[in-house]
Amino acid sequence: MYDPLVDDFPGPAQPHVRSYWQAQHGAQLAQLPPTQAALPEHADIIVIGAGYTGLNAALELAERYQQHVVLVEANKLGWGCSTRNAGFAMPGTGRLGYGDWEKRVGSDVTRAIKVEYERAFERLERHVAACPVGLQAQRGGYLKIAHNPQAIDGLRSSYEILKRYEPATKWLDAPGIQARVHSPQAHAAIHYPQSFGLNPLLLLASVARQAANAGVTIIEDAPVKKWDQVEQLQRLHTAKGRICAPKVIIATNGYTPNHLHPSIHGRSLPVLSSVIVTRPLSADEKIAIGLHSTELVMDTRTLKYYYRLLPDGRLLFGGRGAIRGKDAHHPRYARHLLEALQGTFPALKELSREPVDYYWSGWVNVALDNYPRIYSPAEGIYTSMGYCGAGVTFTQLAGQRLAELAMGEALPALPFYQSALPKFPLPHLRRLGQWGFYQLARWRSL
Ligand SMILES: Cc1cc2nc3c(=O)[nH]c(=O)nc-3n(C[C@H](O)[C@H](O)[C@H](O)COP(=O)(O)OP(=O)(O)OC[C@H]3O[C@@H](n4cnc5c(N)ncnc54)[C@H](O)[C@@H]3O)c2cc1C
Repeated sequence: MYDPLVDDFPGPAQPHVRSYWQAQHGAQLAQLPPTQAALPEHADIIVIGAGYTGLNAALELAERYQQHVVLVEANKLGWGCSTRNAGFAMPGTGRLGYGDWEKRVGSDVTRAIKVEYERAFERLERHVAACPVGLQAQRGGYLKIAHNPQAIDGLRSSYEILKRYEPATKWLDAPGIQARVHSPQAHAAIHYPQSFGLNPLLLLASVARQAANAGVTIIEDAPVKKWDQVEQLQRLHTAKGRICAPKVIIATNGYTPNHLHPSIHGRSLPVLSSVIVTRPLSADEKIAIGLHSTELVMDTRTLKYYYRLLPDGRLLFGGRGAIRGKDAHHPRYARHLLEALQGTFPALKELSREPVDYYWSGWVNVALDNYPRIYSPAEGIYTSMGYCGAGVTFTQLAGQRLAELAMGEALPALPFYQSALPKFPLPHLRRLGQWGFYQLARWRSL
């Protein structure tokens, strides 16, 4: 599997991962307005990467600012995380809760961050409305579950702060959560009513269709291999030829090759997140686990597990994967997720005797200080990355903000927009640091 810290660039022409979403709806991507084969020589703005961030930026630039936008994607549309994720539409991004933000920036700015998260949901709703089947949204909220008794106090404290910002959230004690999720690893929970489950591939298709209709030129199988500057112009060398523009947006997130551009080198850590999808559960199995198909679940572990019932009754279960791309498909990682699923729902013991129907992984982008940045790392270059695995909702707005930044508009005075992504100390040792962190987190979560 492509590894951003090892390979020079992804693609071209690598097939989509064999995910549940591809198996169900891959044809939707093929039915989009045709992408173009020939790369233009010039553009007003080039966008690199056709995931949610790049497509939203391109859509905004074409629709609101009438820019000639050329979007270059290494493989096919949505080849990265944007068609591989679990489809949890959640409030927020990164790994910081409202308590963390309060400590860092005070309650006024934290309130403004909450308003920004609302805007991200509003933009997501635009894409829901533009999809004929409403992205197959399963609306009922998200449960953050204390996975052991020791985790209850920490979760409760975070709820006491959270409810000042999100008054609609609810606390569920042990009987309350056991009524909804029959698991020995469910001891208390917070319910966030606004969150919902969606089909990530249909979301990608919805944004891509709008971008193409707004006039964005989309070129697939065109990885950027080399980048130089000719006077005021950025010149990109792709697998389909060269293109120049005064401005470039980097929307490659967890798939960013280590040496794509010196201004962003060493400022993020690509981390593999993996998912299994089981066969459809029987009626008895569904009753035994209690989980409702409209509720999303994530636990309180440092290396979290998350799960949801899909519209056809399959269980999607995800968590962290391998460290290196070359290990991503090793069966032990799917087995590890299946064992974690068994620990969560012992009633599903039959599943451990069967191969899982789907297993896949994708690269999420972790920032050193746990939240993304939308900024200009060098003149004429703009980027948004570092969502730390929470980008389904926020990337919709991040793309818009990125477009505004590239067009010289002032962004809201929020931490996401005011500084560069911090550089990792000793970037060449990032993987070693990750390995140490995983050992510690596993030991703590036992
Ligand atoms: C298994 C998994 C589960 C997840 N679940 C959730 C979830 O439930 N909720 C949530 O909020 N988030 C989730 N995420 C994270 C979420 O999917 C991402 O934050 C989001 O999709 C990022 O979108 P993006 O457009 O920034 O990047 P991506 O969708 O990753 O797109 C980057 C694109 O850049 C392209 N690219 C890279 N290098 C080059 C180059 N040199 N030239 C041209 N193109 C290039 C890649 O091919 C890729 O298509 C999950 C991620 C994974 C992997």
